[in-house]
Amino acid sequence: MKIKALIFDVGGVLQLGKKPLEYYKGKPHSLGVHEYISRKLKISLDQYFDSVDTAYTKSIEGEISEKKALKIMARNLKTTSKKLKEFYKQAYKENFKLNKELLKFAFKKKKQGYKIAILSDQWYLSKKALVLKDFYNKFDATIVSCDVGVRKPNPGIYKLTLKKLRLSAKETIFIDNQEWNIKPAEKLGMKTVLFKNNKQAIREIERKL
Ligand SMILES: [Mg+2]
Repeated sequence: MKIKALIFDVGGVLQLGKKPLEYYKGKPHSLGVHEYISRKLKISLDQYFDSVDTAYTKSIEGEISEKKALKIMARNLKTTSKKLKEFYKQAYKENFKLNKELLKFAFKKKKQGYKIAILSDQWYLSKKALVLKDFYNKFDATIVSCDVGVRKPNPGIYKLTLKKLRLSAKETIFIDNQEWNIKPAEKLGMKTVLFKNNKQAIREIERKL
């Protein structure tokens, strides 16, 4: 079947972390962001994660509002919502860089007639920092976990993306930097590319078109 759409992840794909992902308590994190906040608040990274973990995880699936998440996190961290929000804003700005080359490639493909979409796990503040307004305007569908109430690797969010694109899985290529996000996409029948760098990813995408 002919490929009709390219679906991109954001963190580690369309937005590149300045530091590589590091494992912390069994999960990969862009530690740059979290280290920045813990440094600002003069606490250990452990103490920071213990304070934010529940609210942060819940807000990735939109289970609690931004206001409530910030309130809980700020209370646990003994600071104010306002200050914390400002720290995160600065932290994402300092730790991520727009992947202009891949974005340019995506827009080129759109011009050639392919649909392009975003499928991303974010909580409210990372969404504001990393999912640019421009993405909403230029991509045919922009699916972000905190907006839709489900996150990768839950198959529901992949199906939702396909529904928005009005395409079947076989007509799409999904590009993500995490192995475990690739697996459910494959199971649904999407073609997949595990992103390592632009050169490799663009070559693999072109090969599948
Ligand atoms: Mg990612």
